[in-house]
Amino acid sequence: MLYKLSLVKSGDRFIERIFHESMKDLGKFYGITWTTNTPKIVFLKDRKSIDLLRAKKTEPWLVGWADDRMRIVFVLDKKELERYSSHTYSKDYYHSLIKHELSHLFYKILSAGKQGPVWLSEGVAIYTSGQNKLKIKPSKFKNFLSFYNRGGSGVYEESGFVVEILVKRFGKNKLLKLIKSLEDVSNEKQFNKLFQKIYKFQISYKSISLQGSW
Ligand SMILES: [Zn+2]
Repeated sequence: MLYKLSLVKSGDRFIERIFHESMKDLGKFYGITWTTNTPKIVFLKDRKSIDLLRAKKTEPWLVGWADDRMRIVFVLDKKELERYSSHTYSKDYYHSLIKHELSHLFYKILSAGKQGPVWLSEGVAIYTSGQNKLKIKPSKFKNFLSFYNRGGSGVYEESGFVVEILVKRFGKNKLLKLIKSLEDVSNEKQFNKLFQKIYKFQISYKSISLQGSW
């Protein structure tokens, strides 16, 4: 398959502002000063381009992803967002979408390339990009743990709030320690042990609900 990629010449100031603000803010959160070989953003013009790059028929909610090896964030162009996805465009939505994908790249640097539980990886990206503000708080936690190895639209419902609770109750450093320690984790059992070691309680729907006094 052949692709044509071109440089956006006249800078889009809105996008540039999002990029710089996000890099600064995420750098502060993750404790990473990222100045060389910084991420690149590639805008895709339609669903077909997304499907070609993902090598499958994608669902309408998928509008962006991050390739940590290439350090590239792929996003559906803002002008085409409503035409080729199930999302409604707003400046806040698009800002947090790009920040979310950039956050995945910082996470992977900290975890030395490991993803760990999908709910954790997505939860951290959602929390750090401010997407919780655009979401409805779940009345109780009941599905995030089912997203350990698999993704899907359901993982975005609770995971951001789980991470918010962890940060608000126990501080950012424990979360960063958890992400850093993923390097030695290969399965859910090992992750649960690591979580227990860092947080001094077992991860479950009940324990997270209690911590959040949900
Ligand atoms: Zn994500």
